[in-house]
Amino acid sequence: MTGRPFCRRCLLADMPSQAELAKSIRELIALLPPEQRAGDDIAAARLARCRECEHLVDGMCALCGCYVELRAAKARMICPDVPGRW
Ligand code: SF4
Repeated sequence: MTGRPFCRRCLLADMPSQAELAKSIRELIALLPPEQRAGDDIAAARLARCRECEHLVDGMCALCGCYVELRAAKARMICPDVPGRW
């Protein structure tokens, strides 16, 4: 990773900017082993559902606390709200 490291235990006051955070999440997705990845088409379809969801807040799912772009990129993840949504 380059720039300011992403810390999972930061307070909000210590968190990087949205652009830095988005970059860090893209880097984490890139580091996922191929067998743990959902695939680009599946991730895009999941994120399309997230975009329409009332639980999406600032890139995070308010139900599970995950950054949805990272959650959607992982093969074995599911939506915590409606079974079968994704
Ligand atoms: S993971 Fe599910 S509940 Fe969370 S924002 Fe996406 S669609 Fe909504």
